[in-house]
Amino acid sequence: MKTYQHIFFDLDHTLWDYDRNVTESLSELYHHYALQNLGIETFDKFFAAFHHVNFQLWDWYNVGKIDKHNLRKERFPRIFDHAGGNVAAIPGEFEEDFMHRTSSKSHVFPYSKEILTYLRNKYRVHVITNGFNESQAKKMKSSGLDIFFDLVVTSETTGHKKPDPRIFHYALDQLGTLADHCLMIGDNPNSDILGAQRAQIDQVFFNPEGKETEIKATYEIRHLKELEELL
Ligand SMILES: [Mg+2]
Repeated sequence: MKTYQHIFFDLDHTLWDYDRNVTESLSELYHHYALQNLGIETFDKFFAAFHHVNFQLWDWYNVGKIDKHNLRKERFPRIFDHAGGNVAAIPGEFEEDFMHRTSSKSHVFPYSKEILTYLRNKYRVHVITNGFNESQAKKMKSSGLDIFFDLVVTSETTGHKKPDPRIFHYALDQLGTLADHCLMIGDNPNSDILGAQRAQIDQVFFNPEGKETEIKATYEIRHLKELEELL
């Protein structure tokens, strides 16, 4: 095994529990704005539409087919449309309210803080995320994750998104280190694992649901606690 000095973490779906936090904020929005009166009959419909549309838009964002501004502008109109809601009736502040509520949520994956505490004693720990500066900073602060990281690299700062190896090269340059001394941990084979592979950085695929994937990582774990055996 290589001698690692730097551990890079993905944030959403790896440490910060995106699904749980987003579910809470969507539920609050559904009730706060009484979306059943705007044509979206049930929360489940709203929730399903959010997942369908948001996943698609982030996929597009990750391959450069849509930018941040348009992702945010188009998200809820598309979601309302998909859920059978009245697009013209979407409150003006809806997207902003969603961003604010969501990034204020604090749920993290089981054992996140314990493993970060453990790793901080042996390595330097950093974040490489495809999210936006403001929202990622807020999420880390709200959840108390911010205290664990030395360097936070976002796609917004670097202008490159995982799996583009340049976002990893940027991190290596900032730290004055080499790929051989680094390890990337993330939940997304197409961005975290593939991107690290392209930058010749070893990878840990965090795969809590045991999904099948064609992209084979250096290591695979189902629970963050397993990192204690690896590192
Ligand atoms: Mg992720």
